[in-house]
Amino acid sequence: MADLRKEIEKRRTFAIISHPDAGKTTLTEKFLLYGGAINLAGSVKGKATARHAVSDWMEIEKQRGISVTSSVLQFNYDGYCINILDTPGHQDFSEDTYRTLMAADSAVMVIDGSKGVEAQTRKLFKVCVMRHIPIFTFINKMDRDANDTFDLLDEIEKELGIATCPVNWPIGSGKNFKGVYDRNTKKVMTFSDTLKGTKEGVETEYEIDDPRLCEVIGDEKKDLLMEEIELLDGASAEFDMELVSKGELSPVFFGSALTNFGVETFLQHFLQMTTSPLPRNADIGQIDPFSEDFSAFVFKIQANMNKAHRDRIAFMRICSGKFTAGMEVTHIQGGRKMKLSQPQQMMAQERKIVEEAYAGDIIGVFDPGIFSIGDTISTSADKFAFEGIPTFAPEHFARVRQVDTMKRKQFVKGITQIAQEGAIQIFQEYNTGMEEIIVGVVGVLQFDVLKFRLENEYNVEIRLDNLPYEHIRWIENKEIDLDKLSGTSDMKKIKDLKGNPLLLFVNSWSVGMTLDRNEGLMLSEFGRN
Ligand code: GDP
Repeated sequence: MADLRKEIEKRRTFAIISHPDAGKTTLTEKFLLYGGAINLAGSVKGKATARHAVSDWMEIEKQRGISVTSSVLQFNYDGYCINILDTPGHQDFSEDTYRTLMAADSAVMVIDGSKGVEAQTRKLFKVCVMRHIPIFTFINKMDRDANDTFDLLDEIEKELGIATCPVNWPIGSGKNFKGVYDRNTKKVMTFSDTLKGTKEGVETEYEIDDPRLCEVIGDEKKDLLMEEIELLDGASAEFDMELVSKGELSPVFFGSALTNFGVETFLQHFLQMTTSPLPRNADIGQIDPFSEDFSAFVFKIQANMNKAHRDRIAFMRICSGKFTAGMEVTHIQGGRKMKLSQPQQMMAQERKIVEEAYAGDIIGVFDPGIFSIGDTISTSADKFAFEGIPTFAPEHFARVRQVDTMKRKQFVKGITQIAQEGAIQIFQEYNTGMEEIIVGVVGVLQFDVLKFRLENEYNVEIRLDNLPYEHIRWIENKEIDLDKLSGTSDMKKIKDLKGNPLLLFVNSWSVGMTLDRNEGLMLSEFGRN
């Protein structure tokens, strides 16, 4: 019992969100370096994920293989057991990327100091906000010319709608980057770019009033720093841990992941400011992570790459208690008892069979096709189900037609099964049946996956015709009469498989216009299951 508590208390489970190339991989590598999980940075993952031309399944598999192996990393640091969840970007950006955030307890947002807030960060950030999880900002690449610091903070506040509180403050950037000032300790840590791939280098610290500091950073920079600190102390939000916990205030750090500057300080502050796993909502109320009963939910399902085996891996986030290999659990939605087979976990680069795991950890288990996204597994005598995982808005739409109309049955079966796995979403015209199917995906790669899998697993050839829609909204208030809805000319009414009405738009401003024209209409970017 005491052991269980100790194990869970040292858990920290977070996701790193960023736009591709902001430095997520580099930062992760440096974290692992501090944890002693790898010896030299530069070995976390191949960049094969970044560039590709999808032509065959093998290619997709290879990429998916990479995202499986890098989807969760666990390492120990300073008495903590840390789980980092990867949120894949580029073309393999998919609904899974969003779902991963459902498994995290907090998020680290990496921003390129010369680029500011970018598209993918913005999208992932919205999910963090919906979940009210703490969000920590690391402004990276300060060794390159960065935007004005006040402007960067302003941009985060305006674009993302979260208050910021700089924990440290950069002195210059690019060639003139001299280090960071810690607002708490009132010390300056001077920058040296000799630390790169190692953790041995010593960062030098000076008290703010140490005369030697002027020698290192120069009088001009020192004067400017004093001015900025004064301005900052007067203007920025006060640090309030409660607001941080609710995801309303983001502590901001500056550094350079590549040169290994400011990374360890960031990690230490982050660990102190976050908590071990918190209770999760279920239909019987909150489930205490320290409960003796094991419980978990499925947040991601990965179809097997091997065509001969249509099995899959279900990724689960443990929410309470302890998991031991071979234990008997109840799959709530399936209504039966079972053993979780071949439980796996990632430790740095290697995949291994887990013997035990605790609340906060992620395990992947062999799935013969019984799990669905959001399912609950537990050993509790109370049969409860965790709150479902929302459906996230696809951004690309296409009309699907089967080439051979005789294969109607296989087509409907195949596309429905693939949709159940959560890789794609399918919709119908509002007034017709299954004869017209519209597919929505979060990342365009999923179109290729769909086409390939239907051909290879179901022997059905399809044609995809892209549709111009980019925005989808679920209608929150059920009493709205779709026939009477007054929309824009680019709007299309559709329904999902359960018959729920949705709206598609080409332009984002049409969403606002439609809201204006229909009093009381409530639209959402997330679909509740
Ligand atoms: P990801 O796509 O977010 O995972 O980004 P990566 O970690 O792969 O980094 C993208 C590129 O930026 C790589 O070439 C890195 O070497 C480089 N990079 C990452 N961090 C820094 C940094 O702090 N300073 C500089 N100058 N380059 C960086």
